[in-house]
Amino acid sequence: MSITHESIVDCPRCQLPVRVFVADSLNAGRHPGLRAALLDGSLHRFTCVCDYQIVVDKYLLYFDHGRGHFFFTFPRTQITNLAACLAEAREVFELSFGAQAPDEVRPLAAQTMVRVCFGLDQLRDKVIADDHGLSDLVLEELKCEVLAERAELRELQVIGLWLVGVHAETLEFLTQGLDGTRPQRIKIPRAAYDEIAARGHAEILAARPSLVNGPHVSMLGMLLETA
Ligand SMILES: [Zn+2]
Repeated sequence: MSITHESIVDCPRCQLPVRVFVADSLNAGRHPGLRAALLDGSLHRFTCVCDYQIVVDKYLLYFDHGRGHFFFTFPRTQITNLAACLAEAREVFELSFGAQAPDEVRPLAAQTMVRVCFGLDQLRDKVIADDHGLSDLVLEELKCEVLAERAELRELQVIGLWLVGVHAETLEFLTQGLDGTRPQRIKIPRAAYDEIAARGHAEILAARPSLVNGPHVSMLGMLLETA
């Protein structure tokens, strides 16, 4: 089941209290409307009376047994506590699929993709990628190469790219600036993804091992290394 509740947050702009409806866990197979909200960017997004858009950045366990998704989402700032987040994810996964889990759930563990994400943009990125049969390791390598190659993105201080669309010839990403802003959307030719995919996972990982830290598969791992 999904676990949702009402909560009150203060608007960062006008300080007025805003009533919000948020999920602690989201069963995407059972509640396709919540999954659609994640994909269209409306999940945990609210508009204050002053028109400010509030995105509630909180813990969320997103799962979808039909698609084999078990994605932990921590608030974005928690990436600095990556080890603790990974430990918590291991514990919850063990409780959900281990010896104490229901008989019908335990066998699903082997086919379940487990990921640790930071923020809803990253969660959506993982869901869209897997829906389209894209490898998230290949995508993260693609992001690293695009950010290194494109001077205009460096000038905008873009530190993250989040997959929002998969088209016949292109992949579409939202850019994330240092301060959390999103200056623009960019499209990258699908052929660039295919070229990296052709190298194979082993070669990609050998060249850039910090892309993977257990179930955290992200170019953000590189930022931690240089921090
Ligand atoms: Zn406000």
